[in-house]
Amino acid sequence: MKTQDRHSQSRVTAGVTFAARLAFERISHAYANGSETLNDVSFSAEPGEVLCLLGPSGSGKTTLLRIAAGIEPQTAGRVILNDREIAGPSVFLPPEKRSIGLVFQDFALFPHLTILDNVRFGLTALSGDEARKEASIALSRVGLAHYADAYPHVLSGGEQQRVALARALAPRPAVLLMDEPFSGLDSRLKDAVRAETLSILRESRATAIVVTHDAEEAMRMGDRIALLRDGALVQTGRAEEIYLRPVNLFAAGFFSELNCFRVRASGGMVDTPVGRVEAPGFADGDEATVAVRMSGFDVSETEGEIEARILSRRYLGVVELIEFAVPGADKPVKASVRCGRLSPSTRDFWLSLRKSDVLVFVSGDENA
Ligand code: ADP
Ligand code: MG
Repeated sequence: MKTQDRHSQSRVTAGVTFAARLAFERISHAYANGSETLNDVSFSAEPGEVLCLLGPSGSGKTTLLRIAAGIEPQTAGRVILNDREIAGPSVFLPPEKRSIGLVFQDFALFPHLTILDNVRFGLTALSGDEARKEASIALSRVGLAHYADAYPHVLSGGEQQRVALARALAPRPAVLLMDEPFSGLDSRLKDAVRAETLSILRESRATAIVVTHDAEEAMRMGDRIALLRDGALVQTGRAEEIYLRPVNLFAAGFFSELNCFRVRASGGMVDTPVGRVEAPGFADGDEATVAVRMSGFDVSETEGEIEARILSRRYLGVVELIEFAVPGADKPVKASVRCGRLSPSTRDFWLSLRKSDVLVFVSGDENA
């Protein structure tokens, strides 16, 4: 084997877990000081699946992981592992009996322990020798066996994340929970560590719930996504299901930046400053919010439906973001256009709506 391939050489690829199903059933929760943090949340992670739990800061993601891990009791509802209730009105399995591993947001490595001892930390049920062996296997699995006797401070952020992953995998959990595991890494490192983590999760065959507040990260990592807002589940589905058919304006806006227009329906249609759109199911006079993605405009110098004048252009490499003034629109209309397509000196253009990038919602849905 070539020396350049040090990681794969030292990787152990044996399956380590049985794949399990973790289900939340009607979970509600409030911290001691009062207000509700989770309200009637139900969804499940299927065996071997990577499910991304997505939501803005404060939406209850960490609380839900803590409930699954058994370090926070819910106030109502049940947590089911395979067919077994592990937390419910009359059952509470302690964390160490749940076969659920947790990787904390800050990795939480002990600076005064060697990397092997950090990984060994979760293996209290085993004898010294067995624990050492299992920890070595887990460390090999993340490609870091050669760091066994080093201390955490010599590792990069990405390597520390892998040690935290090895520590969580060492007891061979059926389910692995990861709380914003990449948020502490700089953006160039993130892609590589995400890909690496995903391949380790696949090899270990653990069911995983990965928390993130970043919709793009959820789309990259998750077989499916569960979207949370203010302690309530908004939507679950594959990335393209939520992207193409968001249930409300919040879900749509979390996955792409939108231009929104509030209008009234007439004859099953709505008129917006950027064009006329079908509004099936809307009665005359109903208020609708029309949301148009930034990718939703064809921009031309010669032809189109709507006059538009450039207010600003921002070059991003692949696309440029353009703000247009459009008659009748009270805010600038934002559009993304492939770089190099439009002349740098032209100011006046024509816009045409791409119907596939237009979504129509009942107004008020954003607060649903
Ligand atoms: P997320 O992980 O999505 O950012 P959290 O689960 O950490 O959300 O928090 C959900 C809500 O619960 C927030 O409003 C937060 O302020 C509150 N919260 C979190 N931890 C505690 C705590 N220990 N005591 C009281 N309130 C808390
Ligand atoms: Mg959190």
